Amino acid sequence: MTLEPHRHDESAEGPPRAVAQAIGRGLKLRCPACGEGRLFRAYLKVNDACPACGEALHHQRADDAPPYVVISIVAHVIVAALMAVELTWKPEIWVHLVLWIPLTIAMSLALLPPVKGALVGLQWALRMHGFGGADDDAHLAPAPAGRGPRA
Ligand SMILES: [Zn+2]
Repeated sequence: MTLEPHRHDESAEGPPRAVAQAIGRGLKLRCPACGEGRLFRAYLKVNDACPACGEALHHQRADDAPPYVVISIVAHVIVAALMAVELTWKPEIWVHLVLWIPLTIAMSLALLPPVKGALVGLQWALRMHGFGGADDDAHLAPAPAGRGPRA
């Protein structure tokens, strides 16, 4: 059995980035690097680069992580509130429908941008997916012999 030696990419190294600060800036929909530029150019569309400091943001791979996190938060809040209201006032079923369905939708839509921002900030701070300077797709196609990693 042969094991491929782990290729350590020097270009992915750099000074440590403050994780909590980057997440906080993402929650405020700001660039994780400078905290000034807008992270999104549309509702959930991340800017390719920060308009303020020019930091490349297109490396983000939040993918479907934001909805997972949002579902976890919204479900805990709404289900707890629904049960509390039911136990306290025992309202008609239509009251539940009118109350919780719009609230679930509104809360989910409101939470998606800050949660996605926080996850992009986390990826940036941990230098994931090319945020450290290394090509995230380099491992997918073996580089031709004699060719080093892209700068
Ligand atoms: Zn910036």
